[in-house]
Amino acid sequence: MEKDLEYPKSTIDSIAGHIEEIIRLLGEDPQREGLLKTPQRAAKALYYATSGYRSNTDEVVGDALFTAPSSGAVIVKDIEFYSFCEHHILPFFGKISVGYIPAGKILGLSKVARIVNLYARRLQTQERFTQQVCDAVGEAVGAKGVIVLCNGQHMCMKMRGVEKQDSSTTTMALSGAYSDNPRLRAVFISAVSYK
Ligand SMILES: [Zn+2]
Repeated sequence: MEKDLEYPKSTIDSIAGHIEEIIRLLGEDPQREGLLKTPQRAAKALYYATSGYRSNTDEVVGDALFTAPSSGAVIVKDIEFYSFCEHHILPFFGKISVGYIPAGKILGLSKVARIVNLYARRLQTQERFTQQVCDAVGEAVGAKGVIVLCNGQHMCMKMRGVEKQDSSTTTMALSGAYSDNPRLRAVFISAVSYK
């Protein structure tokens, strides 16, 4: 997704026009030297940061499915993500860990991170993001169960509103064997926690 991203000129120009107007409405002069190219740059940055809308799980996973050597859990820990909260269009970011119990197939490891990017790069809530990663990994690999633990810091909590600098939010989603079996959940939690 990253390397193939193209910026369609008419869309970027249109977004840039709106950003120029926002700069003006905020009380700045969009014609001053430091801001001249800002609308175009900001439009491309926003387009990139929402590229999840223009891809899907099939495209991201491709044919990177392999025969599982065992039925043991696969756990990918601390994948960084960057997203936008859909309420304020301010960033939230953090780490997300994904575990699944294979039902015959495993995913190429980098594909788990690509599924994370696919759903992070949208206007999101952390709760929905966590659930969508859980659903997409389960569908992509046909797992017996999936578990996802996400910890995020929200700029809308830090820079505005309640201004809570040190708060973070943890969300979890789980399915199949992870819903049914507390022992599997405990193994995942201990694998992704720092001691
Ligand atoms: Zn927010």
